[in-house]
Amino acid sequence: MQGLVIKSTGSWYQVATDMGSIVDCRIKGKFRTKDIQTTNPIAVGDRVDIEMEPEQNTGIINKLLPRKNYIIRKSVNLSKQAQIIAANLDQAFLVVTLASPRTSLGFIDRFLVTAEAYDIPAKLIFNKLDLFSEEGMEILAEYQHIYTSIGYPCYEVSALEGTNLHIIEGLLKDKVSLFSGHSGVGKSTLINTLIPGMSLKTGEISDWSDQGKHTTTFAEMHPIPGGGYLIDSPGIRELGVIDIDKGELGHFFPEMRNRMNECRFNNCRHINEPGCSVLEAVENNEIELSRYESYLSIFHNHDTRS
Ligand code: GDP
Ligand code: ZN
Repeated sequence: MQGLVIKSTGSWYQVATDMGSIVDCRIKGKFRTKDIQTTNPIAVGDRVDIEMEPEQNTGIINKLLPRKNYIIRKSVNLSKQAQIIAANLDQAFLVVTLASPRTSLGFIDRFLVTAEAYDIPAKLIFNKLDLFSEEGMEILAEYQHIYTSIGYPCYEVSALEGTNLHIIEGLLKDKVSLFSGHSGVGKSTLINTLIPGMSLKTGEISDWSDQGKHTTTFAEMHPIPGGGYLIDSPGIRELGVIDIDKGELGHFFPEMRNRMNECRFNNCRHINEPGCSVLEAVENNEIELSRYESYLSIFHNHDTRS
């Protein structure tokens, strides 16, 4: 019988089976993730094959089905080991605001690069629409132009007043969605409104990264009434710990990805090389300056390997 892991404590896994039942399961045998060593073999979002234990209402996970993607966090002590936070995500939403507090373009870009590296389609939700002044609306249009033009859908909502939330609800249906965002953007308010019965604390600084470095935290998939699941994610700092090779970084900027093969040198870093098609596109305003600046900033100092 197959099913979806919707909760994990590290030793027990709650599986929603395709037959509609919920079964507490343990693991038997070894499960290995290609390329990385992980402290937890199975995570929420994993599809597994289970077998019921004789005369019990518990099960045994005996097979892990292939993953389409997964997000990890690196272990603090053992640098080679990582914890899988969740698998098989259909989309990742970043909740941002332009007012109290404004989310920086650099922060948005780091999130988008991370989502690209993880191979998860990313979308932006601009919250607190009710607070935007006329000037705020202009900035909103500018931000939305930057991101929609390179393929990231943007949505504007007010979690407080309920504006446009039906659009987000429609997007979540039957999907596994990750919600991320820095403190104060209204992510908890938004999730509480989208999922009746959820009561995340609002107005508090809370982030997985605040919870003591030695505490192991497991993600939970919250069922959405209309179908689908929502994962309230760790903060960007946690999501951002993926290793990105500097030479690969351009691949995670969609607007650079398409142009890079026209650079004169095939190992072009797009910094000061002659015949660089990326630099040319920046000069011609075909690549947004803020995006290129984020590229440089990540290239020079953010969790990248040389
Ligand atoms: P989180 O840290 O991202 O989970 O943010 P919270 O949900 O705790 O919200 C932070 C603050 O923003 C709270 O005081 C919320 O009431 C407020 N807030 C959330 N959404 C909105 C919104 O759409 N409009 C306005 N004006 N305030 C909001
Ligand atoms: Zn180049």
